[in-house]
Amino acid sequence: MMLAVDVQSVALAKSRFAMKENRLLKVSIKPGCIGCGCCEFLCSEVFKVDGSAKVKSDADLEKNSTCIFAAEKECPVGAIHVERCEEKGSS
Ligand code: SF4
Repeated sequence: MMLAVDVQSVALAKSRFAMKENRLLKVSIKPGCIGCGCCEFLCSEVFKVDGSAKVKSDADLEKNSTCIFAAEKECPVGAIHVERCEEKGSS
């Protein structure tokens, strides 16, 4: 039980580390990534896979939104989470 909690905490920490946020899109890697490389193959300007997937800190998410959504769709374990954020300044 304790081990399961610890593993989940590590997974959550990795997810936050991988999070990349800008004005309109937020992309994160959820726990469960199997490191298959599919996301990097489809969208190499955003994803880097080295054991597990990470979102590049300097990635232009808006410019690459099409391949981001393709990677989200094709991830075999559903580990890529993409959400639209409210634009800053909008009411
Ligand atoms: S496609 Fe999904 S499982 Fe494969 S490396 Fe990317 S996030 Fe991980």
